[in-house]
Amino acid sequence: RFITFEGIDGSGKSTQARLLADALRAKGHDAVLTREPGGSPGADEIRRLVLEGDPDRWSAETELLLFTAARRDHLERLIEPSLAAGKVVVCDRFADSTRMYQGLSRGDLRAKVDALHDLMIGREPDLTILIDMDPATGLARAKGRNGTEERFEDFGLDLQAKMRAGFLALAKEFAPRFRVIDGDRPPEAVAAEVEAVVLKALA
Ligand code: C5P
Repeated sequence: RFITFEGIDGSGKSTQARLLADALRAKGHDAVLTREPGGSPGADEIRRLVLEGDPDRWSAETELLLFTAARRDHLERLIEPSLAAGKVVVCDRFADSTRMYQGLSRGDLRAKVDALHDLMIGREPDLTILIDMDPATGLARAKGRNGTEERFEDFGLDLQAKMRAGFLALAKEFAPRFRVIDGDRPPEAVAAEVEAVVLKALA
């Protein structure tokens, strides 16, 4: 099974993905924890190309192509082989992040995002956990983080709120595969709900 985490920057996706992978392993599942952008050596190189250096180096369209190339490599090298081997793949961000970040926040490229996805990726997760949270809290968390390259540090509250609404709309659009979880709670409480939802889906 293929399980992804989505949400605004600072929503706690990475923590929750890690806690879920740990919980699944404790229950005897063979779980692979990975993340995007990146997740394979080639995709990690593309991540650096996009997220490091001059943020204006790439146009929105070129950035979309780079993220799609990274996803294709990640899919070929890690995700598909792991699923074929019967493992549970837990991925921090996937195509829904591109629908939001490249499709919405950096120009209105959603139609191109979808066309490229159909052409080169094709795969959707079996289950997507949207960690929904207050935009101001998420922004404060993302900004307080050190050592990470925050691509959209200058997002501001308006854009963060727009992204939250966009993710909730995406959850409606792809309703059967999304579960929206309230992220405005202590990480352990969020993790307990995530675990319950996922174990039910895996049963
Ligand atoms: O999830 P993570 O913090 O590793 O993402 C790194 C940065 O890349 C974030 O600031 C996020 O907004 C950005 N990003 C993006 N397009 C994606 C996925 C992430 O611009 N498709």
